[in-house]
Amino acid sequence: MQTGSPERRQAAGWEAAAEAAMKQVRVDTGAAGEPEHKAGEEQPKDPAPAQPRAAEEGDARDPPRQPPTLSPSKQAPARVVCAHGKPRSKGRCCKRSSGRRCEDLRSRRPVTVDSSKARTSLDALKISIRQLKWKEFPFGRRLPCDIYWHGVSFHDNDIFSGQVNKFPGMTEMVRKITLSRAVRIMQDLFPEEYNFYPRSWILPDEFQLFVAQVRMVKDGDPTWKPTFIVKPDGGCQGDGIYLIKDPSDIRLAGTLQSRPAVVQEYICKPLLIDKLKFDIRLYVLLKSLDPLEIYIAKDGLSRFCTEPYQEPNPKNLHHIFMHLTNYSLNIHSGNFIHSDSVNTGSKRTFSSILGRLSSKGVDIKKVWSDIISLVIKTVIALTPELKVFYQSDIPAGRPGPTCFQILGFDILLMKNLKPILLEVNANPSMRIEHEQELSPGVFENVPSLVDEEVKVAVIRDTLRLMDPLKKKRENQLKKKADALNSAHDTALERSRQLGKPLTGKEDPVESAIAIPPDSSTNSEAHLPSICLKQVFPKYAKQFNYLRLVDRMANLFIRFLGIKGTMKLGPTGFRTFIRNCRLSSSSLSMAAVDILYIDITRRWNSMTLDQRDSGMCLQAFIEAFFYLAQKKFKMLPLHEQVASLIDLCEYHLSLLDEKRLVCGRRGTSGDRPPYSGTPQEAAPFAQPADGVPQPHAGSASKPSLYRRPLS
Ligand code: ADP
Repeated sequence: MQTGSPERRQAAGWEAAAEAAMKQVRVDTGAAGEPEHKAGEEQPKDPAPAQPRAAEEGDARDPPRQPPTLSPSKQAPARVVCAHGKPRSKGRCCKRSSGRRCEDLRSRRPVTVDSSKARTSLDALKISIRQLKWKEFPFGRRLPCDIYWHGVSFHDNDIFSGQVNKFPGMTEMVRKITLSRAVRIMQDLFPEEYNFYPRSWILPDEFQLFVAQVRMVKDGDPTWKPTFIVKPDGGCQGDGIYLIKDPSDIRLAGTLQSRPAVVQEYICKPLLIDKLKFDIRLYVLLKSLDPLEIYIAKDGLSRFCTEPYQEPNPKNLHHIFMHLTNYSLNIHSGNFIHSDSVNTGSKRTFSSILGRLSSKGVDIKKVWSDIISLVIKTVIALTPELKVFYQSDIPAGRPGPTCFQILGFDILLMKNLKPILLEVNANPSMRIEHEQELSPGVFENVPSLVDEEVKVAVIRDTLRLMDPLKKKRENQLKKKADALNSAHDTALERSRQLGKPLTGKEDPVESAIAIPPDSSTNSEAHLPSICLKQVFPKYAKQFNYLRLVDRMANLFIRFLGIKGTMKLGPTGFRTFIRNCRLSSSSLSMAAVDILYIDITRRWNSMTLDQRDSGMCLQAFIEAFFYLAQKKFKMLPLHEQVASLIDLCEYHLSLLDEKRLVCGRRGTSGDRPPYSGTPQEAAPFAQPADGVPQPHAGSASKPSLYRRPLS
């Protein structure tokens, strides 16, 4: 696998430039012994709190902040000049540059992280922050932090700015039923591409369908002896899971009604190592939803069963240590092996498994590329509904944080090395210690080196990728370099005209190096290269054709109209049909209303989410499929759907253009006129130039539903 995206190489270039500049400053000022950077020195002082809180105690304990200085050496007074070539003393700069200098200073303060809600990831987070030389606020902070680290969900804290490590709705999206539904839509559209997820049925709703389909296949092939695994929705750590050989074995009584579940084909032939079944926990960073950015950690964990594997038979179905790889279950087996080595024991690094496979001649590049493809496709299945959650929780135009999230992908390798997706975890365990039984019944938490090695790297490097100041610094350095080049050219030209050599005062290179270097970029010099590899948009070309549901979600969101809602009302649906010109002699508006009522009622009876009435995204997709099939009868489903999306986008872009022209002709501004219905209001919220506008408090927040339709 290739490493080092162009951006990263570019970043490395700027870091190198900063490093070089810093060395020069030291020589020039004779201040080699000066600390490079005093942590916290640029932080605004908190005003005295009205009421003391734990958070403020944390602030109060900070060492007094020193004004930034570039102390000249006593022996060799350095001629320090500001960026404008004016002499400067005791850290002061000429008036002209004070704004920019303030900006410089702001961008060199340490990144602040609120870890007050980090819960079980706290230990790994603390180590990461320390390694990065950032500033932790363990009790929270009255002033906003750059990054908020939540242990459970987006809603752990009320935040209105900065970045938070959770997306709204992610926990709901990766529940077993929701994930199965999202993948099934993709399987309907692209069956070959999504065959990495076992066939699943949702219980109790699809129990009859499950029985009927199994019977049908068995009738066609009497030798087929399947096994199924029943997993309660929202369960984790193997809780409530059991294997069955026949649909009649499902424990329907009582539990299913109160606790819905997924029943899934059981993968009977997993790859074994040392005769044991194992799975892989891979860490995936969803860095941004729009534009979609996905990173995969180069290493993960492999969790082993503790009883030798046999294909399921009625006698071993209940042997959990043979069939379930959950660490939380197997730790209670007498055979569990704790090991500090990454390639032995019941929990190992994934890289050690790959090393072992490679030594046996396995093409591990192919294994990796299949895994990357599985991850990208799964994220593509999840993002449409995530966007609906996002616009509901963080409506454009209101202050809110930007989001990123580390996901835990559980993957099983089949005997033929094909990766199978078991599940996605919104809150993968980031614990770096494990329980050890010292004597019978006496447990103690001891550090787990394998966990620490993998998890600290994932958290630390996620933080590095999310570093809010890095981008600013890179931009500043680039600007400085550009300014430097042009100033140098001008100065050279002038000195050539005057026939004079450059004097120090005029030398733009010296002016530039008098500006303090980017010390926090340098603080990464001691760190290993980033363990997260970008896979999207890097491989976007190969996967973009799969993003049909994403485009449907954009249409859905556009017609939601009222901010904060997640369901489409009947008027919104009618407006969608009208604006996209989908009604015809064969599809009257009365038929549209019936379609809406029919599908919406069915979906609302199935889904647990009764927050608001109306048509959910899944129901909209079903209606869309129906309309696509009606309009483009002869094509395969994905082409029908793609054609209908193209048609809708085309009509909407025409409409937007028309409204834009009317708007220009109309009153003063570029805004098209407001037609009166909330559903009509949504498209107009987009700025006339089609460029989504960041709003106060979330400068880099992706604009999800005001973007122009392509
Ligand atoms: P949980 O969230 O409770 O851990 P999982 O879906 O991860 O639920 O399943 C628990 C374990 O069961 C997995 O780690 C894996 O070992 C096994 N398992 C789950 N689904 C399958 C499957 N379809 N085929 C084979 N084994 C499976």
